[in-house]
Amino acid sequence: MRNDEHCIFHVDVNSAFLSWSALKQLEEDPGSTDLRTIPSAVGGDTATRHGVITAKSIPAKRYGVQTGEPVVQALRKCPSLVLVRADFKVYRRYSRALMEILHEYTDLVEQASIDEAYLDMSGSPYRLRGSGAGLKAEEQWPLNAAHQIRERVHRELGFTVNIGISVNKLLAKMASDFEKPDKVHTLYPDEVPRKMWPLPMRELHGCGGATEERLRQLGICTIGQAAAMDPLILQSNLGQKAGEYIWKSANGIGSSAVRPQHEKAKSYSNEETTSEDISTDNYRTKGLEIVQRLGRKVASRMEKDHVMAKTIQVIVKTDDFRRHSRQATLGSATADPAVICREAEALMDQMLFSADGIFKSGRTLRLIGVGCSGLTDGSYRQMDLLSWMQEAPARDEKQRKKKKLEEMMRQASSRFGADAIRRGMSGGSESGADSHRG
Ligand SMILES: [Mg+2]
Repeated sequence: MRNDEHCIFHVDVNSAFLSWSALKQLEEDPGSTDLRTIPSAVGGDTATRHGVITAKSIPAKRYGVQTGEPVVQALRKCPSLVLVRADFKVYRRYSRALMEILHEYTDLVEQASIDEAYLDMSGSPYRLRGSGAGLKAEEQWPLNAAHQIRERVHRELGFTVNIGISVNKLLAKMASDFEKPDKVHTLYPDEVPRKMWPLPMRELHGCGGATEERLRQLGICTIGQAAAMDPLILQSNLGQKAGEYIWKSANGIGSSAVRPQHEKAKSYSNEETTSEDISTDNYRTKGLEIVQRLGRKVASRMEKDHVMAKTIQVIVKTDDFRRHSRQATLGSATADPAVICREAEALMDQMLFSADGIFKSGRTLRLIGVGCSGLTDGSYRQMDLLSWMQEAPARDEKQRKKKKLEEMMRQASSRFGADAIRRGMSGGSESGADSHRG
C-alpha cells in the first residue's frame, strides 16, 4: 500500500442477528446450546412460523437454508431448525459495543448499518509501527491493525467480524465479503483483476437484480466484463448515473470519504413547544417569531455542517394533539436563513389561513417546527443512486435507450469487432461462452 493512499477498513459482523441472538441466549442461560453450533435461524414469528429467515447459522446453511426465504420452506429443508425471534434491543446493544471498540482506533467511523462500519485508518499510529523486516505478513501494517480489531471484538464481545482493507469504501466492502467468518482480506487496486473481476456481476456492491439482468442481456456476466466495457455503452443501457456507477465500481473506483455519524444527518429540524396556545389572534405577533427563530436555527446548523437543502418543511401540533405538516421543494438547494424563513412563513400561511386551513377549523397550535431535507453537499451519494436504480424507467424511455444502445453497439462493433465487445476486452473469467445466452 502506497503511503499517500487512503487506508479504509470495512468491518462486518458475521451472521450478525444469529450471533447476537446466540450470545443473548447464552447470557440468559449459560448452560444452553450455542445457537451458532446447531441448525438455527432468526426470523418470522416463531409461534405461527410465518415470515422469512433474516439470519442463519453455518450448520443451517449446510441444509440449504437461505436468508430471505419463507420460514416454512426453510423448515422443509431442515425440520430440526431452531427458530428464534429477532430482538432489536439486544442487537442495538451489541452494535453500540462494537462501534465503541472501533472508535478507539480512529475518529473516522461511518456506521453503514447495524452490523457494519467503515473506518478511515489513514492516520493510524499503527502505520508507523507495523513495518520493517522480520515481521510476519500479519504483523505488517495495515494487517496488524485489522487483526487486532478482529481479535479484540471476538475476545471482548464474543462474536466474529470480517474486515476488508483497501483504498476506498467500495473495495473494502467487497473484500470483507470474501471468505467468512473471522477473516481479514485485502483488495487493493492492483488485486482487482485477480480477486474481483472473475466474480459474477451480482456480487458487485450496488448492482441489483434488475441491473444484473440488463447486463446479462448485453452479454456481461462478470465484473471484469463490465470493467472492460465502453462506459458509454453501459450508460446508454442502464442510464447515465447507473452506467457510470457500474463502470467505475467494476474498475475499483469509489469514494474514500468516511463520514462520521454527525455528518450524516438526513434532515435538520427544530421544534418548539409554544408557551401559550397560538391562534389566529396571536400568530402574527408570537407564532411568526417562533417560525423565524427556528428557520435561522436550522440554517445555522446546516451551514456548520456544510450542507444545503432543497426541501423546506413546517410542522405544527394542534390542541387535539395531531401533527400536521407541509413542505415545498425549491429549485435549488440552499442554507440561506432568509430563504428558509421566507419559505417556512409561506408554508405556515398556507397551512393555517387557507380555506381548509387549521385556523379555519378553530384549532390552536401547541408546537411549531421547521425542517430541511433533501440535503446535498455536492458530492456523489450512493443512496440516491440505489433508490434511483429501483425505479423502472418508463416504457418509451426504455425503447429510446434500446435504440440508442443498438446504434452504439453497431458503431462499437465496427470499431473493435463484435466478439471483443461481448466478451469484454480483458480480465473476465472464461464465462464469456455463456454470455452469448443473452
Ligand atoms: Mg454482516
